[in-house]
Amino acid sequence: ATALDIAAIRRDFPILHQSVNGKPLVYLDNAASSQRPKSVIEAVSRYYEHDHANVHRGVHTLSQRATDAYEGARETIRRFINARDTKEIVFTRGTTEAVNLVAQSFARPGFQPGDEILISALEHHANIVPWQLLREQVGAVLKVIPISEQGEVDFVEFEKLIGPRTRLLALAHVSNALGTIVPVEKFIKVAKQHGVPVLLDGAQAIPHTPVDVQALGCDFYCFSSHKMLGPTGMGVLYGRKELLEAMPPWQGGGDMILSVSFEKTTFNQLPWKFEAGTPHIAGAIGLAAAIDYLETIGMERIAAYEHELLEYATDRLSRVPGLRIVGTAANKAAVVSFTLEGIHPHDIGTILDTEGVAIRTGHHCAMPVMEFFNIPATARASMSFYNTREEIDRLAAALEHTRKVLG
Ligand code: PMP
Repeated sequence: ATALDIAAIRRDFPILHQSVNGKPLVYLDNAASSQRPKSVIEAVSRYYEHDHANVHRGVHTLSQRATDAYEGARETIRRFINARDTKEIVFTRGTTEAVNLVAQSFARPGFQPGDEILISALEHHANIVPWQLLREQVGAVLKVIPISEQGEVDFVEFEKLIGPRTRLLALAHVSNALGTIVPVEKFIKVAKQHGVPVLLDGAQAIPHTPVDVQALGCDFYCFSSHKMLGPTGMGVLYGRKELLEAMPPWQGGGDMILSVSFEKTTFNQLPWKFEAGTPHIAGAIGLAAAIDYLETIGMERIAAYEHELLEYATDRLSRVPGLRIVGTAANKAAVVSFTLEGIHPHDIGTILDTEGVAIRTGHHCAMPVMEFFNIPATARASMSFYNTREEIDRLAAALEHTRKVLG
Protein backbone atom coordinates (compact mmCIF):
# COMPACT_ATOMS: atom_id res chain seq x y z
CA ALA A 1 0.00 0.00 0.00
CA THR A 2 1.09 3.54 -0.58
CA ALA A 3 0.86 6.77 1.34
CA LEU A 4 0.04 8.77 -1.79
CA ASP A 5 -3.48 10.13 -2.26
CA ILE A 6 -3.69 9.36 -5.95
CA ALA A 7 -7.27 10.61 -6.34
CA ALA A 8 -6.22 14.03 -5.00
CA ILE A 9 -3.09 14.03 -7.16
CA ARG A 10 -5.13 13.24 -10.26
CA ARG A 11 -7.39 16.21 -9.60
CA ASP A 12 -4.31 18.41 -10.02
CA PHE A 13 -3.90 17.25 -13.63
CA PRO A 14 -6.77 18.66 -15.74
CA ILE A 15 -5.73 16.85 -18.92
CA LEU A 16 -6.27 13.40 -17.39
CA HIS A 17 -10.02 13.97 -17.08
CA GLN A 18 -11.23 13.53 -20.64
CA SER A 19 -12.52 10.89 -22.97
CA VAL A 20 -10.57 9.78 -26.01
CA ASN A 21 -12.53 7.90 -28.66
CA GLY A 22 -15.42 7.65 -26.24
CA LYS A 23 -13.37 6.04 -23.44
CA PRO A 24 -11.81 7.64 -20.35
CA LEU A 25 -8.22 8.52 -21.20
CA VAL A 26 -5.48 6.24 -19.83
CA TYR A 27 -2.20 8.11 -20.31
CA LEU A 28 0.76 5.74 -20.23
CA ASP A 29 3.23 7.62 -22.42
CA ASN A 30 5.03 9.47 -19.64
CA ALA A 31 8.53 8.56 -20.79
CA ALA A 32 7.87 10.53 -23.98
CA SER A 33 6.41 13.45 -22.06
CA SER A 34 4.62 13.78 -18.75
CA GLN A 35 1.52 15.90 -18.13
CA ARG A 36 1.42 19.14 -16.11
CA PRO A 37 -0.35 19.90 -12.85
CA LYS A 38 -2.46 23.06 -12.56
CA SER A 39 0.20 24.71 -10.41
CA VAL A 40 2.67 24.63 -13.33
CA ILE A 41 0.11 25.89 -15.84
CA GLU A 42 -0.88 28.66 -13.42
CA ALA A 43 2.72 29.67 -12.66
CA VAL A 44 3.34 30.13 -16.38
CA SER A 45 0.15 32.10 -17.00
CA ARG A 46 0.66 34.20 -13.87
CA TYR A 47 4.09 35.11 -15.19
CA TYR A 48 2.68 36.14 -18.58
CA GLU A 49 -0.22 37.99 -17.01
CA HIS A 50 1.80 39.98 -14.47
CA ASP A 51 5.57 39.84 -14.76
CA HIS A 52 6.79 39.30 -18.30
CA ALA A 53 9.65 41.39 -19.66
CA ASN A 54 13.12 40.56 -20.93
CA VAL A 55 15.58 39.43 -18.27
CA HIS A 56 18.96 40.84 -17.18
CA ARG A 57 18.53 44.05 -19.15
CA GLY A 58 16.01 46.48 -17.82
CA VAL A 59 16.05 48.66 -14.74
CA HIS A 60 12.27 48.75 -14.85
CA THR A 61 10.14 46.78 -12.43
CA LEU A 62 8.83 44.09 -14.75
CA SER A 63 12.30 43.25 -16.04
CA GLN A 64 13.46 43.02 -12.45
CA ARG A 65 10.59 40.68 -11.56
CA ALA A 66 11.20 38.50 -14.61
CA THR A 67 14.92 38.32 -13.78
CA ASP A 68 14.21 37.43 -10.15
CA ALA A 69 11.81 34.68 -11.19
CA TYR A 70 14.19 33.31 -13.82
CA GLU A 71 17.22 33.31 -11.52
CA GLY A 72 15.06 32.06 -8.65
CA ALA A 73 14.20 29.05 -10.80
CA ARG A 74 17.91 28.35 -11.19
CA GLU A 75 18.27 28.23 -7.41
CA THR A 76 15.27 25.86 -7.13
CA ILE A 77 16.95 23.52 -9.60
CA ARG A 78 20.32 23.76 -7.86
CA ARG A 79 18.71 22.72 -4.60
CA PHE A 80 16.68 19.95 -6.26
CA ILE A 81 19.77 18.19 -7.63
CA ASN A 82 22.07 19.35 -4.80
CA ALA A 83 24.58 21.19 -6.98
CA ARG A 84 27.07 23.36 -5.09
CA ASP A 85 26.46 26.57 -6.97
CA THR A 86 23.88 28.14 -9.31
CA LYS A 87 26.83 28.78 -11.67
CA GLU A 88 26.66 25.05 -12.36
CA ILE A 89 23.07 25.19 -13.65
CA VAL A 90 22.89 26.07 -17.36
CA PHE A 91 19.46 26.37 -18.99
CA THR A 92 19.11 24.59 -22.34
CA ARG A 93 16.25 23.56 -24.62
CA GLY A 94 16.36 20.05 -23.21
CA THR A 95 18.53 17.00 -22.70
CA THR A 96 19.44 16.95 -26.37
CA GLU A 97 20.82 20.46 -26.33
CA ALA A 98 22.65 19.81 -23.05
CA VAL A 99 24.51 16.82 -24.52
CA ASN A 100 25.33 18.76 -27.68
CA LEU A 101 26.66 21.63 -25.58
CA VAL A 102 29.08 19.29 -23.83
CA ALA A 103 30.11 17.68 -27.12
CA GLN A 104 30.80 21.03 -28.80
CA SER A 105 32.16 23.05 -25.93
CA PHE A 106 33.84 20.51 -23.66
CA ALA A 107 34.96 17.78 -26.05
CA ARG A 108 35.51 19.48 -29.40
CA PRO A 109 38.15 22.02 -28.35
CA GLY A 110 40.37 19.53 -26.51
CA PHE A 111 39.90 16.06 -27.96
CA GLN A 112 42.57 14.68 -30.28
CA PRO A 113 42.23 12.15 -33.11
CA GLY A 114 42.05 8.71 -31.52
CA ASP A 115 40.63 9.97 -28.22
CA GLU A 116 37.78 7.76 -27.08
CA ILE A 117 34.23 8.42 -25.93
CA LEU A 118 32.60 5.55 -24.15
CA ILE A 119 28.80 5.13 -24.30
CA SER A 120 26.52 2.11 -23.82
CA ALA A 121 24.32 0.16 -26.22
CA LEU A 122 21.33 1.40 -24.20
CA GLU A 123 21.57 5.04 -25.19
CA HIS A 124 18.91 7.32 -26.62
CA HIS A 125 19.93 8.86 -29.95
CA ALA A 126 20.51 12.13 -28.05
CA ASN A 127 23.51 10.47 -26.39
CA ILE A 128 24.81 8.84 -29.57
CA VAL A 129 24.52 11.26 -32.47
CA PRO A 130 26.27 14.27 -30.83
CA TRP A 131 29.31 12.01 -30.31
CA GLN A 132 29.17 10.82 -33.90
CA LEU A 133 29.18 14.44 -35.06
CA LEU A 134 32.16 15.04 -32.79
CA ARG A 135 33.86 11.96 -34.23
CA GLU A 136 33.63 13.56 -37.68
CA GLN A 137 34.89 16.89 -36.34
CA VAL A 138 37.92 15.77 -34.35
CA GLY A 139 38.61 12.17 -35.38
CA ALA A 140 37.53 10.79 -32.00
CA VAL A 141 36.60 7.14 -31.56
CA LEU A 142 33.19 6.03 -30.25
CA LYS A 143 33.27 2.85 -28.17
CA VAL A 144 30.10 1.08 -27.07
CA ILE A 145 29.65 -0.97 -23.90
CA PRO A 146 27.41 -3.92 -24.78
CA ILE A 147 24.19 -4.86 -22.95
CA SER A 148 22.86 -8.22 -21.78
CA GLU A 149 19.65 -10.03 -22.74
CA GLN A 150 18.09 -8.48 -19.64
CA GLY A 151 18.96 -5.03 -20.94
CA GLU A 152 21.68 -4.30 -18.39
CA VAL A 153 24.92 -2.50 -19.24
CA ASP A 154 27.81 -5.01 -19.10
CA PHE A 155 30.09 -3.86 -16.29
CA VAL A 156 32.81 -6.43 -17.00
CA GLU A 157 33.04 -5.28 -20.63
CA PHE A 158 33.07 -1.67 -19.45
CA GLU A 159 36.14 -2.37 -17.32
CA LYS A 160 37.84 -3.82 -20.39
CA LEU A 161 36.88 -0.92 -22.66
CA ILE A 162 37.93 1.98 -20.44
CA GLY A 163 41.58 2.81 -20.96
CA PRO A 164 44.30 5.42 -21.39
CA ARG A 165 42.62 6.96 -24.48
CA THR A 166 39.18 7.28 -22.86
CA ARG A 167 38.33 10.98 -22.51
CA LEU A 168 34.66 10.77 -21.54
CA LEU A 169 32.09 8.25 -20.28
CA ALA A 170 28.55 9.25 -21.36
CA LEU A 171 25.81 7.04 -19.92
CA ALA A 172 22.04 6.98 -19.56
CA HIS A 173 21.02 6.98 -15.90
CA VAL A 174 17.75 5.25 -16.85
CA SER A 175 16.96 3.75 -20.26
CA ASN A 176 13.91 5.22 -21.98
CA ALA A 177 13.41 2.18 -24.22
CA LEU A 178 13.54 -0.53 -21.55
CA GLY A 179 13.41 1.21 -18.18
CA THR A 180 16.73 -0.21 -16.97
CA ILE A 181 18.16 1.74 -14.04
CA VAL A 182 21.89 1.78 -14.71
CA PRO A 183 23.95 1.42 -11.51
CA VAL A 184 25.89 4.52 -12.50
CA GLU A 185 27.67 4.84 -9.13
CA LYS A 186 29.91 1.87 -9.80
CA PHE A 187 30.65 3.01 -13.35
CA ILE A 188 31.57 6.47 -12.06
CA LYS A 189 33.86 4.97 -9.44
CA VAL A 190 35.89 3.15 -12.07
CA ALA A 191 35.87 6.17 -14.39
CA LYS A 192 37.29 8.30 -11.55
CA GLN A 193 40.08 5.78 -10.99
CA HIS A 194 41.01 6.34 -14.63
CA GLY A 195 40.60 10.12 -14.37
CA VAL A 196 37.76 10.02 -16.92
CA PRO A 197 34.96 12.63 -16.66
CA VAL A 198 31.38 11.32 -16.68
CA LEU A 199 28.24 12.71 -18.33
CA LEU A 200 24.90 11.26 -17.28
CA ASP A 201 21.78 11.48 -19.45
CA GLY A 202 19.24 11.89 -16.67
CA ALA A 203 16.17 12.52 -18.86
CA GLN A 204 14.39 9.40 -17.59
CA ALA A 205 15.83 9.32 -14.08
CA ILE A 206 15.06 12.74 -12.71
CA PRO A 207 11.24 12.52 -12.95
CA HIS A 208 11.20 9.28 -10.99
CA THR A 209 13.97 9.16 -8.40
CA PRO A 210 15.92 11.52 -6.12
CA VAL A 211 19.06 12.81 -7.86
CA ASP A 212 22.03 14.24 -5.97
CA VAL A 213 24.79 15.22 -8.38
CA GLN A 214 27.38 15.57 -5.61
CA ALA A 215 26.62 12.12 -4.19
CA LEU A 216 26.73 10.66 -7.71
CA GLY A 217 30.05 12.38 -8.39
CA CYS A 218 29.25 12.93 -12.07
CA ASP A 219 30.76 15.85 -13.99
CA PHE A 220 27.74 16.60 -16.20
CA TYR A 221 24.06 15.77 -15.71
CA CYS A 222 21.49 16.48 -18.45
CA PHE A 223 17.69 16.53 -18.20
CA SER A 224 14.46 17.83 -19.78
CA SER A 225 11.69 19.79 -18.11
CA HIS A 226 8.83 18.29 -20.13
CA LYS A 227 9.37 14.79 -18.73
CA MET A 228 9.15 16.08 -15.14
CA LEU A 229 5.85 18.02 -15.26
CA GLY A 230 7.42 21.22 -16.66
CA PRO A 231 7.14 23.11 -19.96
CA THR A 232 8.59 21.85 -23.24
CA GLY A 233 11.60 23.54 -24.84
CA MET A 234 13.34 23.70 -21.48
CA GLY A 235 16.13 21.67 -19.97
CA VAL A 236 19.19 21.77 -17.83
CA LEU A 237 22.87 21.05 -18.11
CA TYR A 238 24.49 20.62 -14.72
CA GLY A 239 28.26 20.84 -15.01
CA ARG A 240 31.00 20.92 -12.41
CA LYS A 241 32.13 24.52 -12.12
CA GLU A 242 35.82 23.83 -12.81
CA LEU A 243 34.91 22.15 -16.10
CA LEU A 244 32.37 24.78 -17.18
CA GLU A 245 34.83 27.59 -16.35
CA ALA A 246 37.38 26.11 -18.71
CA MET A 247 34.90 25.60 -21.57
CA PRO A 248 34.49 28.22 -24.32
CA PRO A 249 30.96 29.45 -25.10
CA TRP A 250 29.24 27.47 -27.82
CA GLN A 251 26.76 30.04 -29.13
CA GLY A 252 27.40 33.75 -29.42
CA GLY A 253 24.99 36.62 -29.01
CA GLY A 254 23.38 38.84 -26.42
CA ASP A 255 23.41 38.03 -22.70
CA MET A 256 26.50 35.81 -22.95
CA ILE A 257 28.90 38.77 -23.24
CA LEU A 258 30.31 41.44 -20.93
CA SER A 259 31.53 43.75 -23.65
CA VAL A 260 31.69 43.64 -27.42
CA SER A 261 33.77 45.57 -29.90
CA PHE A 262 34.74 44.52 -33.40
CA GLU A 263 38.25 43.77 -32.16
CA LYS A 264 37.48 41.88 -29.00
CA THR A 265 34.57 40.48 -27.05
CA THR A 266 34.73 39.40 -23.42
CA PHE A 267 32.35 36.74 -22.26
CA ASN A 268 29.97 36.80 -19.36
CA GLN A 269 30.47 34.66 -16.25
CA LEU A 270 28.90 31.30 -15.59
CA PRO A 271 26.21 30.28 -16.18
CA TRP A 272 25.24 33.11 -18.59
CA LYS A 273 28.30 32.43 -20.76
CA PHE A 274 26.30 29.47 -22.10
CA GLU A 275 22.94 31.21 -22.44
CA ALA A 276 23.12 33.33 -25.60
CA GLY A 277 20.01 35.28 -26.51
CA THR A 278 16.70 35.76 -24.74
CA PRO A 279 16.07 32.56 -22.82
CA HIS A 280 12.88 30.55 -22.25
CA ILE A 281 11.93 32.56 -19.15
CA ALA A 282 8.48 31.06 -18.76
CA GLY A 283 10.03 27.61 -19.21
CA ALA A 284 12.37 28.12 -16.27
CA ILE A 285 9.52 29.44 -14.11
CA GLY A 286 7.30 26.50 -15.06
CA LEU A 287 10.10 24.03 -14.33
CA ALA A 288 10.60 25.54 -10.87
CA ALA A 289 6.86 25.17 -10.22
CA ALA A 290 7.08 21.54 -11.37
CA ILE A 291 9.92 20.92 -8.93
CA ASP A 292 7.88 22.50 -6.12
CA TYR A 293 5.06 20.12 -6.96
CA LEU A 294 7.35 17.06 -7.06
CA GLU A 295 8.93 18.06 -3.75
CA THR A 296 5.56 18.45 -2.10
CA ILE A 297 4.84 14.81 -2.87
CA GLY A 298 8.45 13.73 -2.31
CA MET A 299 10.75 11.94 -4.74
CA GLU A 300 11.24 8.97 -2.40
CA ARG A 301 7.49 8.40 -2.20
CA ILE A 302 7.12 8.84 -5.95
CA ALA A 303 9.83 6.23 -6.55
CA ALA A 304 8.23 3.79 -4.08
CA TYR A 305 4.73 4.17 -5.55
CA GLU A 306 5.94 3.85 -9.13
CA HIS A 307 7.85 0.71 -8.17
CA GLU A 308 4.62 -0.83 -6.89
CA LEU A 309 2.94 0.10 -10.17
CA LEU A 310 5.79 -1.48 -12.12
CA GLU A 311 5.47 -4.75 -10.20
CA TYR A 312 1.72 -4.77 -10.70
CA ALA A 313 2.02 -4.00 -14.42
CA THR A 314 4.77 -6.57 -14.96
CA ASP A 315 2.66 -9.27 -13.34
CA ARG A 316 -0.60 -8.26 -15.03
CA LEU A 317 0.87 -7.86 -18.53
CA SER A 318 2.84 -11.12 -18.29
CA ARG A 319 -0.52 -12.88 -18.13
CA VAL A 320 -1.61 -11.49 -21.52
CA PRO A 321 -1.15 -14.44 -23.93
CA GLY A 322 1.64 -13.89 -26.47
CA LEU A 323 3.05 -10.87 -24.66
CA ARG A 324 6.81 -10.73 -24.21
CA ILE A 325 8.44 -8.11 -22.03
CA VAL A 326 11.64 -6.71 -23.52
CA GLY A 327 14.10 -5.58 -20.88
CA THR A 328 13.99 -7.52 -17.63
CA ALA A 329 16.72 -5.82 -15.61
CA ALA A 330 16.67 -6.44 -11.86
CA ASN A 331 16.38 -2.70 -11.25
CA LYS A 332 13.89 -0.85 -13.44
CA ALA A 333 11.95 2.39 -13.62
CA ALA A 334 8.20 2.09 -14.25
CA VAL A 335 8.50 1.24 -17.94
CA VAL A 336 7.21 -1.92 -19.59
CA SER A 337 8.40 -2.41 -23.16
CA PHE A 338 6.80 -5.38 -24.90
CA THR A 339 5.86 -7.19 -28.06
CA LEU A 340 2.67 -9.12 -28.82
CA GLU A 341 3.14 -12.24 -30.88
CA GLY A 342 2.17 -11.81 -34.52
CA ILE A 343 1.05 -8.18 -34.17
CA HIS A 344 3.13 -5.18 -35.19
CA PRO A 345 3.63 -2.70 -32.31
CA HIS A 346 2.24 0.09 -34.47
CA ASP A 347 -1.05 -1.80 -34.81
CA ILE A 348 -1.12 -2.38 -31.05
CA GLY A 349 -0.82 1.36 -30.48
CA THR A 350 -3.58 2.11 -32.98
CA ILE A 351 -6.07 -0.35 -31.44
CA LEU A 352 -5.19 0.81 -27.92
CA ASP A 353 -5.94 4.37 -28.94
CA THR A 354 -9.45 3.36 -29.99
CA GLU A 355 -9.80 2.10 -26.40
CA GLY A 356 -8.59 5.44 -25.00
CA VAL A 357 -5.21 4.04 -23.96
CA ALA A 358 -2.13 6.10 -24.92
CA ILE A 359 1.18 4.26 -25.14
CA ARG A 360 4.25 4.72 -27.32
CA THR A 361 5.17 2.37 -30.13
CA GLY A 362 8.31 2.41 -32.23
CA HIS A 363 12.05 2.37 -31.69
CA HIS A 364 11.90 5.03 -28.92
CA CYS A 365 14.88 6.89 -30.41
CA ALA A 366 17.03 3.93 -29.43
CA MET A 367 17.39 1.99 -32.67
CA PRO A 368 20.54 0.14 -31.52
CA VAL A 369 18.53 -1.32 -28.61
CA MET A 370 15.92 -2.65 -31.06
CA GLU A 371 18.69 -4.05 -33.24
CA PHE A 372 20.19 -5.86 -30.25
CA PHE A 373 16.89 -7.60 -29.52
CA ASN A 374 16.37 -8.17 -33.25
CA ILE A 375 12.96 -6.46 -33.30
CA PRO A 376 11.84 -3.42 -35.31
CA ALA A 377 9.95 -1.82 -32.47
CA THR A 378 8.23 -2.34 -29.14
CA ALA A 379 5.08 -1.10 -27.51
CA ARG A 380 5.95 0.81 -24.36
CA ALA A 381 3.79 1.65 -21.37
CA SER A 382 5.53 4.18 -19.14
CA MET A 383 3.99 5.16 -15.84
CA SER A 384 3.93 8.17 -13.61
CA PHE A 385 2.82 8.62 -10.00
CA TYR A 386 -0.62 9.78 -11.20
CA ASN A 387 -1.30 6.42 -12.84
CA THR A 388 -3.33 3.71 -11.08
CA ARG A 389 -3.70 -0.05 -11.02
CA GLU A 390 -7.13 0.35 -12.63
CA GLU A 391 -5.39 1.98 -15.58
CA ILE A 392 -3.00 -0.97 -15.85
CA ASP A 393 -6.05 -3.25 -15.87
CA ARG A 394 -7.53 -1.11 -18.67
CA LEU A 395 -4.27 -1.50 -20.63
CA ALA A 396 -4.26 -5.27 -20.13
CA ALA A 397 -7.91 -5.56 -21.17
CA ALA A 398 -7.24 -3.41 -24.25
CA LEU A 399 -4.32 -5.69 -25.17
CA GLU A 400 -6.53 -8.75 -24.85
CA HIS A 401 -9.04 -6.96 -27.08
CA THR A 402 -6.22 -6.22 -29.57
CA ARG A 403 -5.38 -9.93 -29.78
CA LYS A 404 -9.03 -10.74 -30.55
CA VAL A 405 -9.19 -8.08 -33.27
CA LEU A 406 -5.81 -8.75 -34.91
CA GLY A 407 -4.40 -11.99 -33.51
N1 PMP B 1 17.69 10.84 -23.35
C1 PMP B 1 16.70 10.04 -22.95
C2 PMP B 1 17.03 8.82 -22.13
C3 PMP B 1 15.39 10.33 -23.31
O1 PMP B 1 14.40 9.52 -22.94
C4 PMP B 1 15.11 11.48 -24.08
C5 PMP B 1 13.70 11.84 -24.50
N2 PMP B 1 12.99 10.79 -25.11
C6 PMP B 1 16.18 12.29 -24.45
C7 PMP B 1 17.45 11.94 -24.06
C8 PMP B 1 15.99 13.52 -25.27
O2 PMP B 1 15.26 14.47 -24.55
P1 PMP B 1 14.69 15.77 -25.28
O3 PMP B 1 13.99 15.30 -26.52
O4 PMP B 1 13.76 16.34 -24.27
O5 PMP B 1 15.87 16.65 -25.57
